[in-house]
Amino acid sequence: MFLGEIMAYKYDILEISDRAKIDKENGNIVIDGCLGTFRNDAHTLISFPSVTEYLTRCSNENLDYTRILGPKTFASALGHWIFNKDYLEITKNKNIFTAATIGGTGAIYDIFKYFSDNDGAALVSDICWPNYFTIGKNTGLEIFSYSLFEEKRFNLSGLELALNEALKTHDHVLIVINDPCQNPTGYSLTNEEYTSIFSILDRYNNNAKSVDIIFDTAYIEFYAKKPLLYEFLKPNYKFNVYLAFSASKTFGIYGLRLGALLGFMKSKEEKIFVENSISDIARGSISSPNAQAIGTLTALFNSDRAVEKMRLNLVDEKTYLAERASKSIKIMKSNSIEFLPFDSGFFITIISPKNAYALCDQLEKMHIYLVPISDQLIRIAICSLSVGEIELIAKAIKNFGF
Ligand code: PLP
Repeated sequence: MFLGEIMAYKYDILEISDRAKIDKENGNIVIDGCLGTFRNDAHTLISFPSVTEYLTRCSNENLDYTRILGPKTFASALGHWIFNKDYLEITKNKNIFTAATIGGTGAIYDIFKYFSDNDGAALVSDICWPNYFTIGKNTGLEIFSYSLFEEKRFNLSGLELALNEALKTHDHVLIVINDPCQNPTGYSLTNEEYTSIFSILDRYNNNAKSVDIIFDTAYIEFYAKKPLLYEFLKPNYKFNVYLAFSASKTFGIYGLRLGALLGFMKSKEEKIFVENSISDIARGSISSPNAQAIGTLTALFNSDRAVEKMRLNLVDEKTYLAERASKSIKIMKSNSIEFLPFDSGFFITIISPKNAYALCDQLEKMHIYLVPISDQLIRIAICSLSVGEIELIAKAIKNFGF
């Protein structure tokens, strides 16, 4: 094992969090700002009454195997949940397939594997959910990256340059966009940025090359406004648009492992080909998705009452998180701690006043656990911390960092 890999494991989110857990078990007062799970100020996982109700109701059901890509009833119910009032406008006259997966991670895995099997490549911003690189490594997919920001805005020219680079050696490229509430910055694309990305897709798709896109929407329900993506899903395109859905954050069921890959395909033939390929990948990896999680959410989706309650609860929780975020931003500013452009979501990324790994090591000695994501950047999971803890983190960084 190389030194870099040892470093990578030491600073892997789950590893750091495990150290925090052990520290706590040893009787210390620990601040764990690693994990992307949404918690209240007392650190209890945020749960939703509709989900709890259906988990209880369905606990003894759906114990059989299910279809490789999940039942068609799930696909339809999920589509209605995601697109809500826009469902018909988004889905009519489209070639759509839905694959139930093991978390949003499974959706990313399946599409990366498909691109890898077809000599494709993926484009990922340098600051991102690090698991994209791990999944790329595990599926043998070549990943090209570009800096996420240029002058505090999404770096469109960097994306285009990286795309050109990837197209020199690959005929199929997948652009990966995590929006809104990007992990780890909390940045959300503007309407103009969406328009520009779709215009790039339009320009680069020709007879020789194909460029597709996947939107990883893991945090979409925590975006303050109506997601811009849904407007952009309405037209038909000459390229494929994929959506990675995660049930983890939205429904507070991280451990149940449910997600989905939705494909808005450019033709019927393409739909059949990719759907069959994804089926094959799923059969050879997970074999069959989590029938119990699928059954539970399908039952919830089919109850208008439960759905309405769920949507109302989500508004409350989103507001709660937004209030915590705005207080966190104020705290960072008042301690002169710089951070990357933030809109909403589970995390903020601060610009470390000194080497981020060294600073995080020092903070760990004070029982504060954060995730260094590069030499200069540290991710703080505001989703699982109280405002008081965020204040303590800022003070500690100020004391050690400057
Ligand atoms: N995408 C992003 C950006 C994430 O941050 C995560 C989880 O942290 C996921 C996808 C996958 O989540 P899950 O596999 O739990 O659905």
